[in-house]
Amino acid sequence: MSRRWIVTGGSRGVGLATAQLAIRKGDRVAVLARNIDDSRLREQLGANALAITADITDPEQVRSAVERVAGEWGGVDVLVNNAGLHRGRRLHRLELDDWHAVLDTNLSGPMHCIRACLAYMGEGASIVNVGAVVGFRGFPGDSAYGASKAGLSGLTQVLAVELASRNIRVNLVIPGLVITDMTSQVDGKALEQLVQRIPLGRAGTEEEIANVIWWVAGSTYMTGAIIPTDGGMLSML
Ligand code: NAP
Repeated sequence: MSRRWIVTGGSRGVGLATAQLAIRKGDRVAVLARNIDDSRLREQLGANALAITADITDPEQVRSAVERVAGEWGGVDVLVNNAGLHRGRRLHRLELDDWHAVLDTNLSGPMHCIRACLAYMGEGASIVNVGAVVGFRGFPGDSAYGASKAGLSGLTQVLAVELASRNIRVNLVIPGLVITDMTSQVDGKALEQLVQRIPLGRAGTEEEIANVIWWVAGSTYMTGAIIPTDGGMLSML
């Protein structure tokens, strides 16, 4: 049966690859992002997609986006909390605004999306949060990002327990390094050093992360799990 997905941050990177995979598998996907190029997304995703402009840090925008999806399709089966923001600096130089922007996007954003979707999710629905290895290990300069992703891990585990009685599963996929717009500002030397810390010796691709998200979304006996998809980075650090 065709499932109804919401993928936040589905306009590019890991989110777009996830939306494309779900659509190729026969599902319908609504992608949420702040900047949507309708005609480009239609080309990339086809007729089984809805593209909705929404800022996940704003609960009202999230609520109306989710209502629109539920209005069109009657409910939500899979929510992928993928939208993310990275702002890095050692803590003493980090602007307070950057701290708040990262926490609002990476932690409060998923919380708003989950709260809005729960009203439209039935038994067997699935929530996949996208964390990061940085939420589990100390990377200097990543205080806001690491704290936000560690928080998302906590939220995942609490909700896995709270929602189990409704048979709604909540899991966390944690990528290590993927070359996307998010990592494109990292300078070449730093990137090389990061790659040296990956046992498989390379960054992952968006499609490799999407494959895991897709599989986790459909698994029926996994909840509260943390799934590194990182070329072995977490095992080595
Ligand atoms: P990306 O290429 O920068 O894409 C981020 C997506 O999130 C875009 O679609 C962006 O669209 C959307 N977004 C950002 N802020 C938003 C907001 N407030 N409201 C709605 N949408 C918002 O990032 P990516 O590399 O694909 O990362 C995807 C996820 O993987 C993130 O959660 C990231 O933390 C995680 N991750 C990535 C890596 C990596 O190496 N790339 C490693 C570990 C974890 P707009 O800007 O138009 O809103």
